[in-house]
Amino acid sequence: MTTAEIITIGTELLLGAITDTNAQYLAKVLNKEGFDVFRVTTVGDNCERIAQVMKEAMQRSDLVITTGGLGPTVDDPTREAAALACGAKLVFHKELWKQIEDRFHELGRIPTENNERQAYLPDTAIGVKNAVGTAPAFYVKQTNSLLCCLPGVPSEMHFLIENEFIPLFEHSFKIETMLHTTVVHTIGIGESQIDQWIGNLEKLKNPTVGLAAHAGSVDIRITAKAKSRQSALDLISPVLEKINNLVGQYVYGYDDTTLLDSVCQILVRKGFGQLSFNQQNLPFLPALFMELVTRVHEGYAENNLKTQYNEMEPAILNVNAVASDSKKGKELSVSVEDDKVKTEESYKFLNSPADFEEWATNRIMGLVFKHLSQKG
Ligand code: ATP
Ligand code: MG
Repeated sequence: MTTAEIITIGTELLLGAITDTNAQYLAKVLNKEGFDVFRVTTVGDNCERIAQVMKEAMQRSDLVITTGGLGPTVDDPTREAAALACGAKLVFHKELWKQIEDRFHELGRIPTENNERQAYLPDTAIGVKNAVGTAPAFYVKQTNSLLCCLPGVPSEMHFLIENEFIPLFEHSFKIETMLHTTVVHTIGIGESQIDQWIGNLEKLKNPTVGLAAHAGSVDIRITAKAKSRQSALDLISPVLEKINNLVGQYVYGYDDTTLLDSVCQILVRKGFGQLSFNQQNLPFLPALFMELVTRVHEGYAENNLKTQYNEMEPAILNVNAVASDSKKGKELSVSVEDDKVKTEESYKFLNSPADFEEWATNRIMGLVFKHLSQKG
């Protein structure tokens, strides 16, 4: 078991002024790389407190990653904190200063005296060139832990993780297991119904099966722990097959596929080249429909070149969606109709108001999906 901790640094985070997307990104990457992520800590721009948190984390975990506080100003305390935590001196790293200067010249700028600060690292640290920004990252190998300090700007941090640090982790740790997750997206069926059908699979240990309900749709996550991606997929595959046998008719896609992607694909496959739609009290829908229409037109044009041999007219699909408020709360009526069949359903909105847009979109697209899937 190789353990990891994440420390995000910045008073902005503690004030709630920005959302900690760095922690989320790192947690995902580290799990995928096979680390057991045990803790995420957020700390303000205070050198002693950062050093304390780093020290504790290094006592517990094999890998400690920090983000933020690497800028050139006095209130960018991460370098100094790392030196304190590692019991090291801050020293000027000549080669790093050269990299910083080169980077500034590339950008047509001249580094200020402040930027020199960024070349001061703990004497035991190794600097890592930042090819997409000006603040270099660094790492320090301690006896029981590897401390890696990265910039706070998300795009720079992502770049450095992917290009510099993942190779370093793979080289430094013999990770025996990795995690792989397959997500099954369903629509038109409730969480409790799925739970009844696949309940016994949710008790499995490897892979594990869990449900995540969103407004109007439910995801089933199958996560396997194994030595390689392929062996994880081998563990997932029979469980996926069982799930498909049980709830297959409600499955609209896997992993990164969105409901809109699936609806587009099926419309194109079934020869629908024209869509018309009406809405009442759903002001966000026209934009979504425009996207759908554009994508369907493109797909239709690619798949159905109209030549003298192919005179078939594109099929038309009409979608009608009306939201109304009654004493009992919000309701949504949707109908989907082609030249042969009409599918109609009404739904009651029971979630929190902030979810209405997502919920209504999922209900409407879900009914289009159901209508098209039914027709064989
Ligand atoms: P800089 O050289 O830009 O000062 P830095 O390494 O010192 O880089 P910070 O000053 O801590 O980084 O953060 C820079 C910006 O990056 C913040 O203003 C914020 O927009 C973003 N950022 C920092 N930490 C996070 C985080 N944990 N999640 C999301 N965004 C973050
Ligand atoms: Mg900063």
